[in-house]
Amino acid sequence: MTDFNLMAELLLPNIDKTPDYYENLYPVRNLPEGARVTRIAPSPTGYLHLGTLFAALVNRITATSTNGIFYTRIEDTDKKREIEGGIEDIIEGLDRFGIAIDEGFISGTEQKGKYGPYKQSERAEIYQTYVKALIRQGLAYPCFCTAEELEAVRNIQESEKLRTGYYGKYAKHRDITVEEAKALIDEGKPFVIRLKSPGSEENKIIFEDAVKGKIEMPENDEDFVLLKSDGIPTYHFAHAVDDHLMRTTHVLRGDEWISSVPKHIQLFKLLGFKPMKYGHISPIMKLDNGAKRKISKRKDPEAAVHFFAEQGYDSECVINYLMTIAASDFEDWRRANPDTSYKSFKFNLKKMSVSGALFDEAKLTDVSKNVVCKFKSDEVYDKLTAWSLEFDKEFYDILTANPDYTKQVLAIDRDVAKPRKDIAKWNEAKDYFAYMFNGLFVPDSTLPENINSADAKLFLEKYKAVYNPDDDRQAWFDRIKGIATEIGFAAETKQYKADPDSFKGHAGDLSTVLRIAVTGRRNTPDLCSIMQVLGKEECIKRIDITINSL
Ligand code: GLU
Repeated sequence: MTDFNLMAELLLPNIDKTPDYYENLYPVRNLPEGARVTRIAPSPTGYLHLGTLFAALVNRITATSTNGIFYTRIEDTDKKREIEGGIEDIIEGLDRFGIAIDEGFISGTEQKGKYGPYKQSERAEIYQTYVKALIRQGLAYPCFCTAEELEAVRNIQESEKLRTGYYGKYAKHRDITVEEAKALIDEGKPFVIRLKSPGSEENKIIFEDAVKGKIEMPENDEDFVLLKSDGIPTYHFAHAVDDHLMRTTHVLRGDEWISSVPKHIQLFKLLGFKPMKYGHISPIMKLDNGAKRKISKRKDPEAAVHFFAEQGYDSECVINYLMTIAASDFEDWRRANPDTSYKSFKFNLKKMSVSGALFDEAKLTDVSKNVVCKFKSDEVYDKLTAWSLEFDKEFYDILTANPDYTKQVLAIDRDVAKPRKDIAKWNEAKDYFAYMFNGLFVPDSTLPENINSADAKLFLEKYKAVYNPDDDRQAWFDRIKGIATEIGFAAETKQYKADPDSFKGHAGDLSTVLRIAVTGRRNTPDLCSIMQVLGKEECIKRIDITINSL
């Protein structure tokens, strides 16, 4: 046996497979030409945050646009930072946002697909097999340096103004012999396994990033860690092995990984893997006192996806908004295709922002209103009651006390050809619809300046006398116009504008008086429909309250 083979047996005696075994177990996928295989690989160290959702959307739509596959892989190699329920939260969160998962983790506990297991802690043997192959070729070796030793090297490098790291002459165990390694192992010394990097800082690598374009960087010369002392891989090594064996074609990930690309390209080459395409996604930014900065998990509530659920943003609104920041050509497409699902949009990575798109809540509100106004009343009923059950039980009880009535309320100006763009998120609904529910209605008879209370009172008295709840919109307004003429108001706005001195106001002013009496507001959806839904008795009661208060 050569020394390298002896070293491999010494370090990983229990590994009896070779990479070929896994190459055959996970064959190249049989997909149509151009189909992209993408994934997200979250670490369950926190709850689903906006950056992960955004990356998932970009990966999903890339796969969808090319009839490819999108899968999830759980990177749980950092057991110390793992949080309970993290996997569930991330996967279920993606599901709530309609991000379909073709393969990998499809719930907190279930995985599907032929390229699994899709959780790194269940793949230790696979990584070790590939490391063993590298050791056999003299491309990896054990390193017994303690944290203190590494720290001391770093201090020297810093004091000499050198690049820090385990490379070149600082790579203490690079040429360790089998005998030396065996002696240290016999002493019970822990070790990691490092790559023996054949790279040099002097050489350049060039790669074409699918998002950022051509990038040039020095080759990697660091003997970075492949396997930690517990036999668990580092991100770099797990990425190479997993994305190769899971037959990923495009690694679209956060751009904090861009500086690691030289390591990854080197690993692919040394392991004999076909290189894959990288695309590095810029983080979502936020304006903070005029300066652009990354959205921060610590500082910004909107960084946690739960924020959107609590506020009652419908998932479709959030996704449509994220599409506008993912692709600079999405909004034009949306205008041309207002009723088509975003899933039909042909996504192009080149249309992504290179510097980082700005999160803008006003824009989200705007996009949301456009989405929500298209929901029919039954759909709004389901969504609003589901939201209120979780976040506003009092409102839920009011909404569900009489579902048919609530649906009629929700249908006003909604189940029509040109629906009103009003609500952006469900936490606005309680105030918006308050006057439609007796438990929430607050009378307010404050009149506009141009109407005096005597005229308002006279109008309301007269209106009560002729009010017919069966009137359609036209007849409803004709009655108001009739009274207008009787009490010195113009029936038509045009008429009033042509000769304002001859009138006290116009019929529109009187309908505002009626609106204030019935709803306590100056601005509402169609008043005739509101009065039909409220019913005669309730409307008369409210008109009387106003008459008595004037
Ligand atoms: N676990 C890594 C992260 O959460 C995944 C990066 C990748 O997509 O490769 O940042």
